Amino acid sequence: MVFDPSPSECPICGTQNKFTFLQDFSREERTFSLYECNVCAFQFWQPFQSPGATWYETRGNNKIQEILKPTITREYHKRILDLAQKDWKGKKILDVGCGTGEFLAELQKKGCEVWGIDFDPIAIRVGRKHFLLKNLYAMPINKFFEATPLPIFDCITCFEVIEHVDNPKQLLLNLVAHIKPAGKIFLSTPSRERMGAHLNGWDYPPNHLSRWNEKAIMNVCKLSGLKVLSITYIEQFRILLESMNAKFHTGLVRRGANSSQGSPSLNSRRIKTRILYVLGTIKVYILGGIPAFCLWIYGMRRGKKNGGMFIELALE
Ligand SMILES: [Zn+2]
Repeated sequence: MVFDPSPSECPICGTQNKFTFLQDFSREERTFSLYECNVCAFQFWQPFQSPGATWYETRGNNKIQEILKPTITREYHKRILDLAQKDWKGKKILDVGCGTGEFLAELQKKGCEVWGIDFDPIAIRVGRKHFLLKNLYAMPINKFFEATPLPIFDCITCFEVIEHVDNPKQLLLNLVAHIKPAGKIFLSTPSRERMGAHLNGWDYPPNHLSRWNEKAIMNVCKLSGLKVLSITYIEQFRILLESMNAKFHTGLVRRGANSSQGSPSLNSRRIKTRILYVLGTIKVYILGGIPAFCLWIYGMRRGKKNGGMFIELALE
């Protein structure tokens, strides 16, 4: 059964009525259907529409971030910070989808002029509070580019954003309009060709609206006036571990913590919850870690495109 009818026109290349239906999906009483454009290889869910800022606000782990200062854990951030070891003083950098701003804060320490945009106002509040970043904006991305007086940037980063938006080509055109002629643009997005992709709950709508491989990225970039300098695969083990843990999810810690509420004293409840937490962490690395490690080794030997794509772009 097809939940949502075939689109009439490809949102990337404009081709009409040349789509392959791939699968249906339903969540929160909403239905979606995945299509691939037979011309440009772009895969997208119908209806192809962002759920809006409110949907994201209610789902993040913002409460934790408001208490604990976020730290750099993602490979794409580390790669740019490595590049910035060379003299990036005075460079103007924009991070689209900056989240809580921990990455921009590191660049600011290196003397860069940093700007950030995210559609999550809570994340932006955390960024301002923890890192005292001035040029942070919480608004829809298109509106930001239309309404904000911006400089022309030396470097624009846009990590894990393109799969969330309902106008990926417009997003890239906006980046092109705000980059210096010799500037660099960096993107990242999950590889749709990775192993165990169907197990990652975050890769379904309305969270992610599109899925990308090298061919689709090359096509959208070309149509937006960008040339692809390199594509490499990052966080391969991390994402395989997430897939395997989704497969072996038992809810042990949550159930244990709930059942311990009848225990005689607060202290014994705390100890029990702590033990369950440690057991849960061990479980993550044994139940999920061993198969993820085997898949990771297998994937590397067989040239699988696991993890996320890290994409380096320049103007055409
Ligand atoms: Zn197309």
